[in-house]
Amino acid sequence: MKQVLIATKNTGKAKEFEKIFAKYQIEVKTLLDIPGSMDVDETGNTFEENAILKAETISKQLDIMTIADDSGLVIDALDGRPGIFSARYAGEDKNDEANIDKVLREMIDIPDDDRSAKFYCALAFSVPDKKTITVSGTCAGKILRERKGENGFGYDPIFYIPDKGLTMAELSSSEKNLISHRANALNELRFILNDFFDLGEQK
Ligand code: IMP
Repeated sequence: MKQVLIATKNTGKAKEFEKIFAKYQIEVKTLLDIPGSMDVDETGNTFEENAILKAETISKQLDIMTIADDSGLVIDALDGRPGIFSARYAGEDKNDEANIDKVLREMIDIPDDDRSAKFYCALAFSVPDKKTITVSGTCAGKILRERKGENGFGYDPIFYIPDKGLTMAELSSSEKNLISHRANALNELRFILNDFFDLGEQK
């Protein structure tokens, strides 16, 4: 059976990919299945560059089809920040509370009408000896002035989705998985994979 590696240790993310690959009879592995696999430094200047860097480094090292993602929050009034620095915006990696506090502080004087933002997700699909394919997805919203909701992670409690009248942290994980930036990128990937595998991997 063919295998694809999802360059993550997050089992929630991996489950979303498993659904897509089941129809191609391709087994999904994650970095949890590969003891001692290395962390790739995210030194790119865009979400795409970081996803490509991760996918290509790992697919070359392990000689396996690999998918990597990079995602984050892009706020218009902050000229696109925190962007690719979303995970470590306040300094320390993955300190969600400090990251939110920093965004709220920086946006204290921004009027309600100017608080638009989006979550962005880039996915890179790297096959050894073939050209890497990238897709992306977004989810539009507004930054609140305080936290609301307990679900999710990262910036979810301050990310309000006007269409739903709720923050991302007030959605259940299944509701979030229908509309999120990652879900939209995965949908794009689904199209690409159809072509890729139906055409006998000619691309
Ligand atoms: P990663 O690419 O999944 O590692 O995400 C990088 C950072 O972007 C996370 O640590 C979060 O701060 C932020 N982020 C990415 N996706 C989401 C999301 O769905 N909700 C909230 N924050 C997110």
